[in-house]
Amino acid sequence: MALNTEQFPEGAGSIMQAADLFAQAHLLPHAAHWGRGFFDRKALFEPAGAAGLMGLQVSREWGGLGLSFADKAKVLQQLAKIDFSAAMALVNSHNVVAQLAQASPQTLAPLYAERLMRGSIVACTALTEPGAGSDLGQIQTTAIRQGKGWLLNGAKTWIINAAHADGVVVYAQTQSGSGVKGIAAFFVLADSPGFERVALATDTALSSMGLGGFRLTNVYCDESHLVYAPGESFVDIMAAINRARAYVAAMCCAMVSQALSDVRAYGQKRTAFGQSLDQFQGWRWQVAQAATALQAAELMVGDACDRIDKGLDVQSAAAQAKLYATSMAQTHLGALLHAMGAEGFLDRYAFLRHLTAAHAASLTDGSTAMLLERVAHELRFRPGAG
Ligand SMILES: Cc1cc2nc3c(=O)[nH]c(=O)nc-3n(C[C@H](O)[C@H](O)[C@H](O)COP(=O)(O)OP(=O)(O)OC[C@H]3O[C@@H](n4cnc5c(N)ncnc54)[C@H](O)[C@@H]3O)c2cc1C
Repeated sequence: MALNTEQFPEGAGSIMQAADLFAQAHLLPHAAHWGRGFFDRKALFEPAGAAGLMGLQVSREWGGLGLSFADKAKVLQQLAKIDFSAAMALVNSHNVVAQLAQASPQTLAPLYAERLMRGSIVACTALTEPGAGSDLGQIQTTAIRQGKGWLLNGAKTWIINAAHADGVVVYAQTQSGSGVKGIAAFFVLADSPGFERVALATDTALSSMGLGGFRLTNVYCDESHLVYAPGESFVDIMAAINRARAYVAAMCCAMVSQALSDVRAYGQKRTAFGQSLDQFQGWRWQVAQAATALQAAELMVGDACDRIDKGLDVQSAAAQAKLYATSMAQTHLGALLHAMGAEGFLDRYAFLRHLTAAHAASLTDGSTAMLLERVAHELRFRPGAG
């Protein structure tokens, strides 16, 4: 197995330390450079694999760490403080390992789990298409039976890691007109004939996310590479999306926490009109408001993580945590950047990258509008929800 799990005894303490060391050694020196568009996957995934970060929630029998969801979220927070985009790239590949170990323990996990956890290969998850984002039931990528396998046709876009992934979990419609019920998931290798990458020129602040797309033209996928059969995949998608909402919310909190700590330090040392900035009520109230909103978001995130670990229904809690945390980050990262004056634009700080990331976070795994719809649905149909 790729990881020496002895290095990480049960419990999260030592992996937190490993995450911190990894972030200082492999994210901090690169983040600003990557944020200008010079991302190199080798500098991210292999060191992350060596640090144990690609097996956080993968069970110990597969060589992972078997952490709780709350601990996984804490590790991701440590990474997101420095580079949200890199943390998203890592967790997306990690999630595919955990999915293969759970859904395909006989076929796909033995083939790919070890290399994915080592970071020598990278994976991603592809739902979104050029014509279907929020409305997932409308995906047009098709999977048609062909002998002992399936023939896939279609296109995907806005996929984290798609710019360089070796394997992609592709969600495709197996039965036209059947909506979400006909959707199945396939593990498609990027070197399959008919797989063609489509580059996305995004804002450079997102470059370590490796965003991209691809076209599938008669890509043959063997039955052994079916991850979820039609009818099974939508339940898995929704559960995975709820979990992602919770950790994306946690990562938004981490970005604001980092920004607050930079602002507080700056407010003590920078003087204007004969006193330090933090002695001006107008200045420090902005900081106090951000700290208060952060505390509220952290409590919501903690509740969502706790519900996931206890196996409770998390739809509302995860939607509300992400709604609140992303909008809190969008609002307060802007205010905190302003509180730094021009200094905040220096690339030794992450304010601008974090702000772009917070806006991106408000779209991933359910846009703000979709989350509001989810909460409104609960309020209408579940008396007592709120
Ligand atoms: C940084 C980033 C990473 C991503 N990573 C992945 C990935 O790894 N895999 C993947 O499959 N996808 C990924 N996505 C895609 C993401 O899931 C979609 O962007 C998201 O689902 C929204 O879809 P859309 O962009 O097509 O917007 P649309 O669905 O076209 O929506 C456009 C706007 O209209 C609003 N809207 C839509 N429907 C309604 C409604 N009913 N009522 C009110 N407003 C509405 C939306 O909130 C949004 O503001 C990523 C996106 C981003 C930005």
